[in-house]
Amino acid sequence: MVVVLLGPPGAGKGTQALRMIDERSAVHVSTGDLLRAARRKGTELGRLAQGYMDRGELVPDSVILDLVKAHLETIDAETDVFFDGFPRTTDQATSLDGVLKDTGRAIGTVVLFDVPDDTLLKRLSGRRSCPDCGSVYNTFFSPTAVEHVCDRCGGALVHRKDDEPETVARRLQVYQAETAPLIDFYQAHPASVTRIAADRDVGDVYADFCDAVDAAFRDVS
Ligand code: ADP
Ligand code: AMP
Repeated sequence: MVVVLLGPPGAGKGTQALRMIDERSAVHVSTGDLLRAARRKGTELGRLAQGYMDRGELVPDSVILDLVKAHLETIDAETDVFFDGFPRTTDQATSLDGVLKDTGRAIGTVVLFDVPDDTLLKRLSGRRSCPDCGSVYNTFFSPTAVEHVCDRCGGALVHRKDDEPETVARRLQVYQAETAPLIDFYQAHPASVTRIAADRDVGDVYADFCDAVDAAFRDVS
């Protein structure tokens, strides 16, 4: 089954997805993480994506779709996939349906993480990410035991350049213009949509996330 995590930057999609795949045998596919990995490796894709990402703009749909298709080929068709940060446009969502159909997969549920903008701004200004293992922390809400050092793998934490306030403002505008219309798109889609108030304790959000995913698994079995 495929689960789509929808919500603005900083809503907690990555945090929730990482917790989920720690506990279940499933795969987390974050297009943002795939693009950042390509940048670190200095590939053509990474160079192409860099300008868009640093400006807080979306990378073109065709590039993202090629990336996702190639990545899905590395994942067994039976494995559950949690998409985070993808799809982000109606064209990406329409194409995803086609790709999934071709590979015998389907979206079981879409989970929308709802967080007010002022909370997003604080979360993104405090976000610290581990480029080595993907763990995410927050200087305000979930600090590491040792400053700048990943609790999980000892990697050196970074504050993402696109989490600076000017870029965050642009990313939130882009979310409203390009990605928020997916809420209506998925409401008219066969997959169920669950809206979660995500401005709460991580564990409380996770409990609701598990309920939504479990309900979708029951529906398909
Ligand atoms: P997204 O993947 O949606 O962009 P993240 O999962 O990276 O969001 O979370 C953004 C920031 O907010 C991170 O620093 C994370 O530690 C923090 N965070 C996530 N969920 C919560 C929560 N429920 N309460 C407080 N902080 C949170
Ligand atoms: P994220 O890590 O999801 O916050 O994404 C970081 C940046 O990567 C975004 O601001 C975009 O520039 C780019 N990006 C990630 N996923 C997508 C996508 N599905 N479509 C277009 N651009 C994306």
